[in-house]
Amino acid sequence: MTNQSAWSDEEARLRAAICRIGALSYERNYIVGADGNFSARLQDGSILITPTGAMKGFLEPQHLAKVDMNGESIDCGPRASSEVGIHLVAYKHRPDVRAVCHAHPPHAVALTIAGIDMQMPIIPEIVTTIGGIPTAAFGTPGTPELAASIEDLVRCADVMMMTNHGSVTLGANILDAYKKLDMLEHTARILWLAHVVKGGLDPLPDEAVKKMLATRKMLGITTRNTLENQCGR
Ligand SMILES: [Zn+2]
Repeated sequence: MTNQSAWSDEEARLRAAICRIGALSYERNYIVGADGNFSARLQDGSILITPTGAMKGFLEPQHLAKVDMNGESIDCGPRASSEVGIHLVAYKHRPDVRAVCHAHPPHAVALTIAGIDMQMPIIPEIVTTIGGIPTAAFGTPGTPELAASIEDLVRCADVMMMTNHGSVTLGANILDAYKKLDMLEHTARILWLAHVVKGGLDPLPDEAVKKMLATRKMLGITTRNTLENQCGR
């Protein structure tokens, strides 16, 4: 059993934050049932992650699993999500990443099923921040294939889709990772609506994209940008 009195202030704070983000993701329909999983990395390198099979909208801090970088339980507490590999592969390749959100945001997943490219530069806010949203090839959930499918993308993108399945967003903290999930689904909803109304999507002209990318330096935006680093292209 998890020994709550052994938690540091940092651990107690992160456990509460993960539960809040789980509840918010559930309220916003980014997950239903027992979908999704959320994690954060502690200063000592251990990982707090939502447990397997649970409804992530209704978690209490003591329900979370605590694992090492091999996914092994550290505190003999609840068992980690079966998709823990998605989180570990991100932490392994990205020392700057302190939190990971995996959800099933419906519009974004639908666009991957429909084969609509979310890398296309269309929305200025996305062009200047994350660049675009790459999609990984299909990986069978519940197998190491899933984590392997995003291994190349986690090195160069903070926001990505696993085709026909869900999103993975990486952050400097759990709120940052959630913010990117929020941005992702909002963007997908806009693209969806535009696609329905117009019957297709057109990228912004190259010149406009170049000008927007140039504003990144001016405005001091340092986020990983998939248009600049050609991630997933
Ligand atoms: Zn999933």
